[in-house]
Amino acid sequence: MRLSQFHLRTEKETPAEAEIISHRLMLKAGMIRKLAAGLYTWSPLGLRVMRKVEGIVREEMNRAGAIEMALPLIQPMDLWEETGRWQKFGGQLLKIKDRKEQEYCFSPTAEEAVTEFARNELTSYKQLPINLYQISTKFRDEIRPRFGVMRAREFVMKDAYSFHLDAASLDAGYRTMYDAYTRIFTRLGLKFRAVFADTGAIGGTASHEFHVLANSGEDALAWSDGSDYAANVELAEAVSPGARPAATEALRDIATPTQKTCEDVAALMGIPLQRTVKSVAVMGVDADGNDQFVLALVRGDHAVNEIKLTKLAGLGEYRMATEDEIMEHLGSEPGFLGPLNAKKPIRVIADRSVAAMADFVVGANKPGFHIAGVNWSRDLAEAEVADIRNVIAGDPSPDGHGTLGIARGIEVGHVFALGDKYSQAMNATVLDANGRAVHPLMGCYGVGVSRIVAAAIEQNHDDAGIIWPDTMAPWTVAVCMINPKNDPAVTAAAEALYEELQQRGIDTLLDDRGLRPGSMFADMELIGIPHRVVVSERGLAAGQFEYRHRRASEAESLDRDALLVRLG
Ligand code: ATP
Ligand code: MG
Ligand code: MG
Ligand code: MG
Repeated sequence: MRLSQFHLRTEKETPAEAEIISHRLMLKAGMIRKLAAGLYTWSPLGLRVMRKVEGIVREEMNRAGAIEMALPLIQPMDLWEETGRWQKFGGQLLKIKDRKEQEYCFSPTAEEAVTEFARNELTSYKQLPINLYQISTKFRDEIRPRFGVMRAREFVMKDAYSFHLDAASLDAGYRTMYDAYTRIFTRLGLKFRAVFADTGAIGGTASHEFHVLANSGEDALAWSDGSDYAANVELAEAVSPGARPAATEALRDIATPTQKTCEDVAALMGIPLQRTVKSVAVMGVDADGNDQFVLALVRGDHAVNEIKLTKLAGLGEYRMATEDEIMEHLGSEPGFLGPLNAKKPIRVIADRSVAAMADFVVGANKPGFHIAGVNWSRDLAEAEVADIRNVIAGDPSPDGHGTLGIARGIEVGHVFALGDKYSQAMNATVLDANGRAVHPLMGCYGVGVSRIVAAAIEQNHDDAGIIWPDTMAPWTVAVCMINPKNDPAVTAAAEALYEELQQRGIDTLLDDRGLRPGSMFADMELIGIPHRVVVSERGLAAGQFEYRHRRASEAESLDRDALLVRLG
């Protein structure tokens, strides 16, 4: 690409509205422009990066045997009513009417649409297993869109859905996707971790989230230094057996935003103060149906006798979650609530109250380590985050090996064994070998394609700008000409090098804008091109090009052959 024929518009000023570095740098580099809350235009530059991510995702999905297709963005209400998600998806589901007053939604995910396709197309076990995927725009009316494309309302997701005759096949398909995700994030050059997310009451074999590690991440991860154990925790530890809430009223009291002492809470909950009493989380949803939490930290008597009960700030009115809503959360947000190490179904108490949620969490406990379903949000003040960290970190692990550490992560992928939840609800069947109609088991697998672009920047930047991993860079190499207008030899040499690199299959940008070196280099650094070659009169006279890797502190002089080897 010749930059003079491209559209690049960088900014010198740091945008004030952006809170995190990736958002700032994407605006500064001119990768995205805001259209409205959570709605972003991807500039030609931004789109090049997103396409690189998509390309890798597509290659690895195809390699894993998945088959690409396309489902509609706008989906009819009837379909969503079959699974009950028209209501249960809550405020994130954006609904519209057409001119005939028919209702539709913008797809936030596509289990219904793909199951509709499957129930018509798949008739025999011989067609299974099959994994169908798409890479497309999704819409979720997030209550707080923020951090640019990191938590947008319109975003690009790769979503895949697999169909299987039996549990063994689902397990194998799940493992294949897990491995494909590992390859995707490795190829993208990201530091990531796959963490266990419990499937809770909906059963299924497993659920894992893939997180890019970054301090700005909205999620908290706990892992053991002595084993493979890793989980999206947010919080955890057993409440001792029999430590059941004393009274519903008492729990309701706990669920109000206030500060209490450890003794207060223990008394309210009827929990004896002891080492094993660590933490309890109470869940509810807000008026828009989004999950919100009241967080209670209870420390053992050896620790600081203090507890903070925090209602997440600024998230609207709090109301009680219904059992249906909880069950739905367990379905749509696997790992969201439930004991970490429990393989048994969780009992959900059918009382429509936050107190019941607390009872549910507490009641599900047994000795050991439990996820208490706290969606750890940035909205928790740093002090509370530190509290949680202190509570968990350094504990022995759940699997008896090593001690737990805590880090923050950005969820970029999610694999989940669904079982027959959707095939049952929508009555999708195939005939098995005996000619019996059976509901196929399903898995679903998401990758946040547009979010990955921002997540990668969180991990790869310096004061000058973005530092793309080679595989995601808008161009791998920038060839910069010094003073091209006055020096035809420089232009000719730069053009020749550009052609040669392109021919070798290296995605190259020729900066032929004729800018002064300082501005040109600043742009190339800001937009994060990993390899820069400078063609100047002085260099040419010595038969040399100046090469610099974006992470290197010094440039080096290389002749043509050495340069080609370096960029090879
Ligand atoms: P989160 O916990 O961040 O809200 P999620 O668990 O709701 O994400 P999934 O339903 O698992 O998201 O969707 C699959 C992937 O889509 C996520 O792992 C994430 O990378 C991406 N994603 C989800 N919501 C958004 C969003 N609002 N903006 C950008 N990417 C998103
Ligand atoms: Mg979400
Ligand atoms: Mg999530
Ligand atoms: Mg998820």
